Amino acid sequence: MALIVQKYGGTSVGNPDRIKNVARRVAEYRSRGDRVVVVVSAMSGVTDGLIKLAKDIAPLPSEREMDVLLATGEQQTIALTAIALHSLNVPAVSLTGAQAGIVTDGVHTKAKIHNLTPKKVRELLKQGNVVIVAGFQGETPEGQITTLGRGGSDLTAIALAAALQADLCQIYTDVDGVYTADPRIVKEAKKLEEISYDEMLELASLGAKVMQSRSVEFAKKFDVVFEVRSSLNDNPGTVVKEETKSMEDVVVRGVSLDKNQAKVTLVGVPDKPGVAARIFKALGDATVNVDMIVQNISHGSLDKVGATDLSFTVDKPDLLKAQKVIDGLKKELGFRDVIATEKIGKLSIVGVGMRSHTGVAAKLFETLANEGVNIDMISTSEIKVSVVIDLAKGEQAMQAVHAAFIGC
Ligand code: ASP
Ligand code: MG
Repeated sequence: MALIVQKYGGTSVGNPDRIKNVARRVAEYRSRGDRVVVVVSAMSGVTDGLIKLAKDIAPLPSEREMDVLLATGEQQTIALTAIALHSLNVPAVSLTGAQAGIVTDGVHTKAKIHNLTPKKVRELLKQGNVVIVAGFQGETPEGQITTLGRGGSDLTAIALAAALQADLCQIYTDVDGVYTADPRIVKEAKKLEEISYDEMLELASLGAKVMQSRSVEFAKKFDVVFEVRSSLNDNPGTVVKEETKSMEDVVVRGVSLDKNQAKVTLVGVPDKPGVAARIFKALGDATVNVDMIVQNISHGSLDKVGATDLSFTVDKPDLLKAQKVIDGLKKELGFRDVIATEKIGKLSIVGVGMRSHTGVAAKLFETLANEGVNIDMISTSEIKVSVVIDLAKGEQAMQAVHAAFIGC
């Protein structure tokens, strides 16, 4: 008899039939003798719809009120799921985040979980109920409603699994698991049986979004093994867990393409101490998230201050903000020109096997060269190599790189 936490995302509870479907799956586990805690998201589109409603009324709504508003999305789903289970004669009780014991800090719209004491959940389970918890929400010690950031239901599930010491944590979504590449772009992409937390984090933050990154970090910290799988079939999914020795045998676990970045190049930046610090401090102060940075060697002579070019990438939606910051620095820093482009893609290969294999970067560059793809910027970490390339060649490059490293 296992204790299982199952989380169902927005599309898995997107309409009445889907909710009935979830109830059937939960009932099946329960009939095998398992105790089940269900975490649900808002029905797909509901959170976005609520945000739109608020913004139609005021462009910058109060964050406290946004939390009160957005928390209602998940509350609809918990009640509907309980009703669906009742109609299958399964005893079920819905709980809000606060009722389930999720206490957060007071940072509205992106609160962090402070502590979780699922006393009520345990009691209800003991009485034989399926317990359905609203994802994405909690409350401060003062009783204010908070939400955990977009996609935060994943975090609710992982945190509950940790606190309850669940035997199994399943994240149900509309894909079969984590793939070696986006199957819509790479036909040969394969579903992974397992992946390490670190690889999952790199792939998620690189734009292969399956799960909220924060919840994967949380799972890693508290050693929660979980499975990402589809609510639309019974196929086994992908198990996400701590790295094992055999995982290093595979050099590249996955290939991702992030189309959501833009590149800014400052031309003719005076090459003297403090300039980079000034630029990136100003960007940071404006909450622009900078990802890759490349600075060329200075092309000046020894007797006077040389000039260099400096490029960096930012999230596309932050580009205007970044340009504004840079324009404001032009006089002070005295660079010649600014060039910005949105037509870039960031292609990355990720794998813990890179730690123990050599020649990985060379093979990547060679593959790109054979495709006639020019490399704009390069960055590496222990388990990742990323390149910035022309967006127009992004998908072709991804297919070639996938074929070279993972095969058909
Ligand atoms: N409903 C919230 C969102 O759309 C939380 C979630 O789905 O996990 O971001
Ligand atoms: Mg979601």
